[in-house]
Amino acid sequence: MKVILLRFGELYLKGNNRQIFENTLITNIKKMLDGESFKFEKTFGRYVISNYNEQREKAIVEKLKKVFGLYSLSLADEVNAEQSAIIERVAEVKCDGTFKVFVKRADKNFQPGSMEFAKLLGEVVLKNNPKSSVDLYNPEMSIFVDIRLNGKAYIFDNVIKCQGGLPLGSSGHGLLLLSGGIDSPVAGYLMAKRGMTLDALHFHSYPYTSEQAKEKVITLAGKLCEYVGNIRLHIVSFTRVQEEIHKHCKPEYMITIMRRIMMRVAQELCKKYSMGAIITGESLGQVASQTMQSMTVTGSVVKDTPIFRPCIAMDKEDIMKIAKEIDTYQTSILPYEDCCTVFLPKNPVIKPTFEKAAGEERFLDVDELVCQCLQGEEIIDITK
Ligand code: ATP
Ligand code: MG
Repeated sequence: MKVILLRFGELYLKGNNRQIFENTLITNIKKMLDGESFKFEKTFGRYVISNYNEQREKAIVEKLKKVFGLYSLSLADEVNAEQSAIIERVAEVKCDGTFKVFVKRADKNFQPGSMEFAKLLGEVVLKNNPKSSVDLYNPEMSIFVDIRLNGKAYIFDNVIKCQGGLPLGSSGHGLLLLSGGIDSPVAGYLMAKRGMTLDALHFHSYPYTSEQAKEKVITLAGKLCEYVGNIRLHIVSFTRVQEEIHKHCKPEYMITIMRRIMMRVAQELCKKYSMGAIITGESLGQVASQTMQSMTVTGSVVKDTPIFRPCIAMDKEDIMKIAKEIDTYQTSILPYEDCCTVFLPKNPVIKPTFEKAAGEERFLDVDELVCQCLQGEEIIDITK
């Protein structure tokens, strides 16, 4: 019988929590395959998907490749865990080049032992494929026989890498600061990969930024949904904040103050909706607002919520690679302006200080500006 054999990664690290993690993972797998018909079986160390429509196999595999917590999968044949049944199936393997047989026994009662059985099965392949030969070090084809504790053995020649990470929903809920750029969708993806579900917060500066810029962010959130599940997108107008800063503060401190106000708004939303972390796409040294000093001064306005910056140590190239893999890149590079590019100063400060930032903020009614941002909050629920 044709099946898809699923392996999960770090779950074994979780001791007593293992059950909760596994249940979350299983729920997520079933949710991801919603609309497909299939049978799901859990056995020690593996999940098995069977009785699916073979014409949907490719689509099902693509869906499973998006489930965080799954480590790899194989398209396999399931037979009874008996020598004769396994030999019969291995005798059908077609191989014209070099190969190696790998036997793994979760069921240690199965006899013969792994090495001996691999050798025996190798002889079966050789006998049925005159052009084949064994290469133990660099085989062209790997034939795996995985004997499990459910009385079944799985035979396959492929191992397809999946996302890894932890099941979505097992690491709390965070607020992603989502711009229209390349980095922040990747930051959201990376946190979700560690099991965190997400809301997103976008600041726009209409009419300085266009309606298309907002649409772009909605599209990006939609693409993230494929991996992250449903996302509640909070859209907040930043126009008045920017006008006020532009009017009253030194141009070189404009971005620092903007970011501090963004952080305060994010913190308030976290409190209001019980979210446990703020996430940004910042990367050390990428631009003036992402130097260590800049991030210290902007981060310092947030007191009770951690700020996670999963891209902090990544090169732009590496961030772009992930953006392409998760299909956000092409949308991110559309040329609509972000609110950060409105009134952009020529020489933003690279090493801002707490004192000077606070000094500039004295020219503003910061609390009132934050309050206004929150009052104008628009909510869009983005679903898959
Ligand atoms: P990105 O590619 O994510 O836009 P960036 O390299 O352009 O990042 P900045 O514009 O300095 O960098 O923004 C740094 C981070 O601040 C972003 O990754 C994002 O988390 C947040 N951010 C910037 N602009 C906005 C916005 N308009 N709305 C929400 N968050 C924003
Ligand atoms: Mg940006």
